[in-house]
Amino acid sequence: MNKQVYFPVLIIIATVTFVIGIPAAELQTTAEITGFQELTRHGELMEYLREVTASSKLVSMSSMGTSVEDRDIPALFFTRDRTFGTKRTQKPVVMIFCQQHGNEPSGKEAALILARELRDAQKHFLQSMDIILIPQMNPDGSEKDERRNANDEDLNRSHVALIEPETAAIHRVFREWMPEVTLDVHEYNAITESWVDSGYVKDADEQLGGVTNVNISTEIMAFTRERMIPAVGAKLEAAGYTFHRYIVGSPFEDGRLRYSTTAINDGRQSLGIYNTFAFILEGKRYGDVTNRLRRRTEAQLAAMIAFLEVVAEHQKSILEITREAREQLLRVPSMDPEDMIHIQMDYFPDSTRPSVKFPIFNLHTWRPEIRDLTPFEPLVMPKKSIWKSHGYILAGGDEKIVNLLSRHMVIMFKLKQPIEVKVEGYRIVNFTTRHEEEMEMENVDAHPFTETKTLAAESIIIPINQPAGNLLPLMLEPHSSFSIVTEYSGRRDNFSEYVRVGEVYPIYRLMEPVDPNLLDPLW
Ligand SMILES: [Zn+2]
Repeated sequence: MNKQVYFPVLIIIATVTFVIGIPAAELQTTAEITGFQELTRHGELMEYLREVTASSKLVSMSSMGTSVEDRDIPALFFTRDRTFGTKRTQKPVVMIFCQQHGNEPSGKEAALILARELRDAQKHFLQSMDIILIPQMNPDGSEKDERRNANDEDLNRSHVALIEPETAAIHRVFREWMPEVTLDVHEYNAITESWVDSGYVKDADEQLGGVTNVNISTEIMAFTRERMIPAVGAKLEAAGYTFHRYIVGSPFEDGRLRYSTTAINDGRQSLGIYNTFAFILEGKRYGDVTNRLRRRTEAQLAAMIAFLEVVAEHQKSILEITREAREQLLRVPSMDPEDMIHIQMDYFPDSTRPSVKFPIFNLHTWRPEIRDLTPFEPLVMPKKSIWKSHGYILAGGDEKIVNLLSRHMVIMFKLKQPIEVKVEGYRIVNFTTRHEEEMEMENVDAHPFTETKTLAAESIIIPINQPAGNLLPLMLEPHSSFSIVTEYSGRRDNFSEYVRVGEVYPIYRLMEPVDPNLLDPLW
């Protein structure tokens, strides 16, 4: 008599176990399967991501391109809507990308787990945002546990030249979707010689940095500094992790502590310059690549989830601020203070904040502590600023620079017929050096002049009022710290021939608008 009741109950239990239990257990990364003794290699990553994608309607996968050694670089697109992207969904797009540096694998391992969790909709992030997740930017470096890619280039210093296929790929994806928020995930080496010699090491489990180039919207910088970074930190500290806003430099000898570089050739500023909430995450790493891999991966995953929670909480403000800031880039310049562009800048002390409290591990007492460190130079100030012009003119229609700008998807036009326009040019006077951000920089001394110039038909006109409107002067002004003619990531393209002492710089500033009827789009 009992058997008849008993039997269906068993079947129900078995069914429930099958549906809920088995798929999660089946889909694990190599790191999880090996108890974090081994890293997930590229082939395993591809297989894992194909399974994540095949098992959910929330996610699709596409190839961003391939690495130097022809390994696929996949991107996952998560949305709850039928279509993807801010314009259609009215939700911010968040792009997370990991492992530009091949020997910093914990972000990738965390991203793989995050992909599974987003698919399972355990987090409700997709109600507030669409997400592009790129677990591995540098598969070639990763396979060899090396920082650089297979061309021996540091990908996180090559976002201006965009010669490397890996960085060119991320800029294509960025410009296609224009994410309002980006997160570039790294690891920092906590144990360095000068710190150990002084008896302590850096001890923040996670550091989060925002944009610092002063040309980026002040609203984005203020919201980042005052609302977003502290909120991510509070969540991580509540979860048992130590946290600090990302600090570089050292408190020893002639050193100083500051926030990380203002240069636009990294994965944060190069996207931030489009008025994006762009961030860098730095997890703590020491020893070899698998040392404490479980803890590192857990910390990175906790940080990414805290980050997404903070974005979700502020999704409306993020959308409003980026919309407004990006509209500013599309305005024709009119000599407003807003139309200044700062082409040289550096960090300076702030008398109200001479020191910074930072979590360290004391090697003498063998205990963690919060140490008050000096000297601290937290203020970025412009050193040289100029008015924005109406655009730039390539009088000779230079193919090399057109190719560079097209990799940045810059909007360019060709003149249909010869015209006369007011321009500003530069004559190159001298080369000197100057000191900026702990580097000897080449200083191009260029004297401006104004003239009315006859431009030949087919001359290339690059208007300033476009999404890359802040990027263009930084790249093209000869005395910019970020210029292709001096900036080291541009050197492989060899634009140094553009600056010859005594000669005129071959890129002119356009000083008045050109009738749009005289222009043909270049593409
Ligand atoms: Zn890195």
